[in-house]
Order: sequence, then C-alpha cells, then structure tokens
Amino acid sequence: MFDKQAGKKFIDKSLAFKRIKKRKCKLCSNKIKVVDYKNVEFLKNYITERGKIIPRRVNGNCAKHQRIITKVIKKAREVGFLPFQAE
Ligand SMILES: [Zn+2]
Repeated sequence: MFDKQAGKKFIDKSLAFKRIKKRKCKLCSNKIKVVDYKNVEFLKNYITERGKIIPRRVNGNCAKHQRIITKVIKKAREVGFLPFQAE
C-alpha cells in the first residue's frame, strides 16, 4: 500500500512546502501601512501576467496586508491602472 518510494516522495513534498511557507510578508518587513492604488509597479508584484491576484499562500503575505492589497488592486482595476482578468 505505502511503499518506501511513495513515503520518500511525500517527505520531499512537505519539505518543499515548508520552504515556501517560510516567506514573510513584504509589507510587514518594510513596515508599509498604506498602499496607494496609483503605485502600479508595486501592485504588479501581486498579480500574475494575466491580471489575477496571487493568493496569500503563494506570495506569503499576512492576512491583514493581503486584504489591503486585494482591495487596492480592485480599485486600481476600476480606475484602469491594472487589467481585469484578461484572455
Ligand atoms: Zn503583513
């Protein structure tokens, strides 16, 4: 059922996951409190090429800042600085 190979693979996966999890929130470490929706260059770090917002588990933001960023990105989209989910 659970041979050695599969067990090894599972361990490797969990290690890789831990390494990703270690990432810290950029906004916390830079002590940024307010994010401007006009700061497109900064916001582009948090969206994919297609304009999707990168989830928290990937970019490593804390809940508080992720909430701020999604809010600001949505505002920037409405104003036209950032694309909506394209193509
Ligand atoms: Zn944070």
